[in-house]
Amino acid sequence: MSSTIAAISTPQAAGGIGVIRISGDDAIAIASRVFRSKAGHRLEDMPGYRATLGVVEANGEAVDEAVCLIFRAPRSYTGEDVAELSCHGGLFVLQRVLRAVFEAGAEPAGPGEFTRRAFLNGKMDLTEAEGVMGIISAQGEQAAKAALNTLDGALSRKISGICRSVVEVCAALSAWVDYPDEDIEEMSEDEIEEKLTGAKAELEKLLSRFDAGQAITEGVNTAIVGKPNVGKSTLMNMLTGYNRSIVTKVAGTTRDVVEETVRLGDVVLRLADTAGIHDTKDEVESIGVNMAKEKLERSSLILAVFDSSREIDEEDEKILGYCKGKNCIAIINKSDLEEKLDESRLGGFVEASVKISAENGSGYDELKEAVEKMLGTDKLDPSAAMLTTERQRRAAVKAAECLDEALSALKCGMTLDAVNVSADCAVQALLELTGEKASDAVVDEVFRNFCVGK
Ligand code: GDP
Repeated sequence: MSSTIAAISTPQAAGGIGVIRISGDDAIAIASRVFRSKAGHRLEDMPGYRATLGVVEANGEAVDEAVCLIFRAPRSYTGEDVAELSCHGGLFVLQRVLRAVFEAGAEPAGPGEFTRRAFLNGKMDLTEAEGVMGIISAQGEQAAKAALNTLDGALSRKISGICRSVVEVCAALSAWVDYPDEDIEEMSEDEIEEKLTGAKAELEKLLSRFDAGQAITEGVNTAIVGKPNVGKSTLMNMLTGYNRSIVTKVAGTTRDVVEETVRLGDVVLRLADTAGIHDTKDEVESIGVNMAKEKLERSSLILAVFDSSREIDEEDEKILGYCKGKNCIAIINKSDLEEKLDESRLGGFVEASVKISAENGSGYDELKEAVEKMLGTDKLDPSAAMLTTERQRRAAVKAAECLDEALSALKCGMTLDAVNVSADCAVQALLELTGEKASDAVVDEVFRNFCVGK
């Protein structure tokens, strides 16, 4: 028998409606202790998917008018009996109703506990639970679509398909290894190789899309670099100006690293406007310059800013040197002024260049397109299966490595037992990905970031 939990499921702010969700074996009995239906319905007698208007009472006093919605196990979000009280969304009222629900016997729900129960009751697998979190945190249309698709089971179905074909190989190999004299239908070595290679290719395809997926969901660490006065701060303002609502200022003086999160089209950039990278004897300034260099090393995207009204000098060349071989876009700023910069001198150092005027905002769309192209988000299909979390990526990498070992063992002519051990290791990693065989620690990791009430 599970304990019955309750929490406010809507945001902790005033709103038109606030929902208190109660889930567990006693959910309906507990709701009936605090809620009186105006039409005289007994909640205990109501079937699932029914709602009734009534009054929430605490210590015999009316607290709010509310609608009580009943779900009967297993047909509910958690798979348990659920009662939801839709109250007026005032924070005081919601807290008061929640207290009454606790006094009537419910326990406070932990972060993500409703979704955790849905997972434990087989209503969704671990990737789908992560999809729930993705929808809540989505900052753009593509991210929301991708998360909804994950919640709908696209990744789950893809991984299960891959897992099935490796399990078939394991079954055939186990039969040979354990019963070599029996007449068991054989799978030829060619067939085994074909299945393992196919499974590995599918995983590699998923992994190759991971970075682009992260760019639309979690965001990309991006450094804005350039010598002083080329317009880095102005570019930062131009980018944040388009999206003030999601800007978060983390730190900084002008000699420090200032961080903001902005959306450029569907891509989320975690921007760091760094102190100009240049040689300096000023002790405080040199700390900023060193931080800028460090930031550069940790960034997945570099926006290197140059002043188009000046010729490229030694300092610019030094910055170009840092960019070589990295995902770097040259931003040729101040395009509103007479051009003196020789663009051909950027060749070989940066992958792409865009002309903008950070001051008047021109070139924004070109910059957006260049970023989307460099990160591969322009070709991303949010309706395809996608690995969306680092946990999922780690499990997929582990499975691909095990398949690689199995294939090497097969090609080197090692015993089929050795091939089987590696193939089985791939199956275990795939089952961990979907959560069918995930340890408590892995499940805890997934739900740690959920909010209370979800
Ligand atoms: P930072 O030191 O690289 O951060 O450079 P700032 O953003 O502080 O800009 C340095 C100077 O260049 C300021 O006077 C800006 O107004 C000017 N500036 C920046 N962007 C542009 C631009 O697109 N056109 C023009 N004409 N001036 C710009």
